[in-house]
Amino acid sequence: MTPPPGRPGSAAGPGERAVPAAVRAVRAFVAAYGREPTLLVRSPARVNLIGEHTDYNDGLCLPVAIDRELCIALRRTDDVPTAGDATLRLVSEQDPAPAVVGLPPPAADTPPPARATGWARYVQGVAVQLAATGELAAIGELAGAGLVPWQGALASDIPLGAGLSSSAALELAVAVACTHLAGSVPAPTELARLAQRAENTWVGAATGLLDQLACVGGIAGHALRIDCRTLTITPVPLPAGLAVVVIDTGSRRELVTSAYADRRAECERAARALAVPALRDLEALPADAASRLDPVALRRARFVIAENARVDAVAEALARGDAEAAGRLLLAGHRGIRDDFEVSGPELDAAVAAAQAAPGCFGARMTGGGFAGCAVALVDRTRLDAFTAAFEPAYSARTGREAVLHVCSAVAGTSVTALR
Ligand code: ADP
Ligand code: MG
Repeated sequence: MTPPPGRPGSAAGPGERAVPAAVRAVRAFVAAYGREPTLLVRSPARVNLIGEHTDYNDGLCLPVAIDRELCIALRRTDDVPTAGDATLRLVSEQDPAPAVVGLPPPAADTPPPARATGWARYVQGVAVQLAATGELAAIGELAGAGLVPWQGALASDIPLGAGLSSSAALELAVAVACTHLAGSVPAPTELARLAQRAENTWVGAATGLLDQLACVGGIAGHALRIDCRTLTITPVPLPAGLAVVVIDTGSRRELVTSAYADRRAECERAARALAVPALRDLEALPADAASRLDPVALRRARFVIAENARVDAVAEALARGDAEAAGRLLLAGHRGIRDDFEVSGPELDAAVAAAQAAPGCFGARMTGGGFAGCAVALVDRTRLDAFTAAFEPAYSARTGREAVLHVCSAVAGTSVTALR
């Protein structure tokens, strides 16, 4: 998607940040529909501290839901007979074209050419999955498969395509809006699974469950140790003096989706050759791994096995307040994902190097799917100014780019509140 002018591909700029996304969403609703919204859904971004590309290997990860959020102000439209068609209709400040989904939504096996395009795919994908689960009770004459028609306005401070999971925030916000209006309260893991199916089948991104679980399961002040096989979420308290700094390198890459699918296939190939259901089932590479795996699959497997172990080691280090140990593990994770998993990129490597060299930094790594987007650094909260002062010129000197730093707090997952 091409962002409108003046809105640099991403989060609102410094001036706009002064107006919270929740307020902008309400204002946009009034401007678009000429009446007041009744509900506000808030859905956080997430940053993964460690445990990258492990989710689809049934493994472990350690994300944090962060205080950069996507908000939808909304109102059901079957409350007044003249309000319009049976649709879900959503406008976004990021795109002049609204997302409109007719109700009932298309069948789950609708061929791709007959589906929505652009960001409407995420909205439609969620509606399709909700209708397909049959979980929602049929409500109202206009509703399709229990979906209540509504109109909404979306505002977001989550940069798009930066690896902070604006897509999961959008999916979960739409899912929570729909289920809330239908009077249904699915378990967070069910919502996450449904959103993941929407992204896998309707958007065509073969993502694991990390993004959706982190977004819906966020807990203030905590990282989330997620076991992607059992879907168990264990909160890990973040030490008070530790700042989680997200570094948006300003770089974006096309074709990440196909590279992601390649990595997924390579991991599955490695698991098959090693005769385990998933790489998660190995605590170490077998002694004869080099003869059973091609060199690429060997590198992928080596990374995933080490990365799973790092998740527990970082969780333990954070729980005992040992930021230095956690930071060392992040840097080891970066080296593994760069050299063995091969999904880093020049800007991500530059950001990690500049962060590591800056005062107060315990450790840094790329975060998200890879190639471009964001890095994450663990920084001594009392030295944030010195960190920023050293990081920014060092990163620019290496790349010719400006990075945007977000000092983040850990927040609660997707929520809905009545506006009046
Ligand atoms: P990430 O999840 O890392 O941000 P993705 O490529 O998975 O990157 O998802 C980004 C896509 O999600 C955007 O291209 C757009 O289609 C959709 N999206 C996210 N936030 C918004 C928004 N505020 N308005 C419209 N579409 C959005
Ligand atoms: Mg995404």
